[in-house]
This record gives sequence, structure tokens and C-alpha cells, in this order.
Amino acid sequence: MRDSLITPTVDFTREGVQHGFLSLPHSSDASAWGAIRIPLTVVRRGHGPTVLLTGGNHGDEYEGPVALSKLAGSLQAEQVTGCVIIIPFLNYPAFKAGRRTSPIDAGNLNRLFPGNPAGTVTEKIADYVERYLLPMADFVLDIHSGGKTLDFLPFAAIHLPDDPRQQAACEAAMLAFGAPYAMKILELDSVGMLDTAAESLGKVFVSTELGGGGSSTAASVAIADRGVRRFLMHAGVCGGRPGPLPPSVLLEMPGAACYTTCEADGLLEMTRDLGQAVKQGDVIARVHDGTRTGGAVQAYRAGLDGVLAARHFPGLVKSGDTIAVVACEVPQGIGPRLNPVK
Ligand SMILES: [Zn+2]
Repeated sequence: MRDSLITPTVDFTREGVQHGFLSLPHSSDASAWGAIRIPLTVVRRGHGPTVLLTGGNHGDEYEGPVALSKLAGSLQAEQVTGCVIIIPFLNYPAFKAGRRTSPIDAGNLNRLFPGNPAGTVTEKIADYVERYLLPMADFVLDIHSGGKTLDFLPFAAIHLPDDPRQQAACEAAMLAFGAPYAMKILELDSVGMLDTAAESLGKVFVSTELGGGGSSTAASVAIADRGVRRFLMHAGVCGGRPGPLPPSVLLEMPGAACYTTCEADGLLEMTRDLGQAVKQGDVIARVHDGTRTGGAVQAYRAGLDGVLAARHFPGLVKSGDTIAVVACEVPQGIGPRLNPVK
């Protein structure tokens, strides 16, 4: 396979703190011999694990970019044993445009792994992460939120890879992050995700969903700030031990019944809010006919007992949109009930 066109302006093997870029040549109307410059920080000292921290995989999710910008500006080499690679805005064109996907090629970075060194801009970024960054890392944390179209309870998440040792390591790292909730997530569409790429390379991988709506809040950023520091301590790359916190509420998504999908365009009325308990059959949302008065009202019901963990964010909804996700609380800890979804 051909080499990546992406060139780092940092030396990943050099000791100390380096602020630089991943530079990808990109010839466009705006800049004939231009380049996309993805900011990154590398902090290395001595021998220890390597941790890769990424935000902005989707460009309209902000807890990762905010928390990782702060970390990149403050982490000192003396605080590190090993290496921390910080990339706050991984899909940089999407981040700059405030969009989930890239304005250059419509690429959804988190659906394009393993990427392609001869492909689109977004495929080239995925390829660089897959073949150059992931192999360096022992631990990977990819910080997501709901973006402009979803809102989530704040949780750290894992998928439970098949290898029990890797699964246990991912679970421990998820709980160390210390979000209010911890989720065994069922993806509708896991092909091409960074998650899948990192897990298949045997990495200790944790993702998050920390809010949404196309911005961040003081509370959601605080969860990200604290979680990143705790993740680094857990990985052993930063000294100290994560302090005591109320344990994360453990959630799982036991099947497709967790998802409620919109069947007709209209005006969304949520009848439950995030974090509220629901019973199977409860009306959790209504969709009103937005084209006339006196029209039909569609009721959407919970497919199982649980807690409202995610919701569509904008006030208008379209057929095919995920209206809500109901997750189930795991009462006995995160052990045997968290089997892979069949
Ligand atoms: Zn995302």
C-alpha cells in the first residue's frame, strides 16, 4: 500500500512537548498548493504507555475539542511517563465548517475506516489514523457527543470486543473515565468506525457521548475534562490515581428495540426527557403534522423498560430519524449481562 500523503510536523519519538500539525496537501480553488493542517500536540517523556486522545471525529461535537484544547495547552512533559498524542479536531475540515461531515467530500470520518491513502480527503485522514497513529497507541479515547441532531445522557462507552482480556481492559478504562453513565453500546452502523478499527487492533478503546445539540455546556465540559485526566491516570501515563466518584450508572442496549425511529416528517414533541425512567409501551414522543392544523398525531412508544438515554435534538423530525434511544440499567454491575448482542 502506498505511503500516506499526510506528514506530521512533529517527531513522535522526541522527548518534551510539541505543538504541530498533520499536514495533508490539498489543492483547491481557494489555495492551489494548499494543505489541510490538523492540529496536534505530542507530549513524551521516558518509557511508558502511549495514549491517543481524539476529538472532532465529527465536526459538530464540542466536548472533545474543548477539553483536548485545554489539555494540549496545559499538559507538561514532567507530568507524563510515556507518550500522550492529543488531536482535538480530527476531521479538521468538518470541525472548521461546524458540520458532522467534511464540506470537501461529505466524508463521515467515523464511517470511513480503514480509509484509503489514494482516496478522498476524509479517507486519507482515516488511513493515517489506522496505519500510523493507532499502531503507536496502547490506549485510545475518542470523545463524541450528539452533534446538532442528537442529545445524550453523558456516558463513556465500549462495545465489548470478543477477547475477554481486551474486554475487561476496555471496561476498566470506561469506568475509570468516571462519566455519570457507562454504556455497552449497540451500534446501528459499526462498519468503518474508528472504534472498530482500534478494537480490531487490540487497543484499549473507550468512546463517549457527552451531550449534544451542537454545543457544549459547563457540566458536559467538566465531565470531559475530568474524564480525560482520569483516563490518563488509569493508563499509567500520568501519575496519581483517579479520585473517588459516585460510580457510573451502568447501562446496556440489549437490542434493536432500544431505538425509536420516526415514520413521518413533522413537529417533534418529546414527552420524556433524558434520564427519565420509561416503561415499555409508554409514549415517549409525539410527532405532529407540521403542514396543517387538525392533522394526525403520531405517538411513539418505548420498546422496552429503561431510561431515556438519547433523543433527536432539533424541533423538526424526518422519516428515518432516530427519535429516541432507551437503554436499560444494569443493576448488578457490568459483568455477565453485558454479553455481545446477538
Ligand atoms: Zn460523533
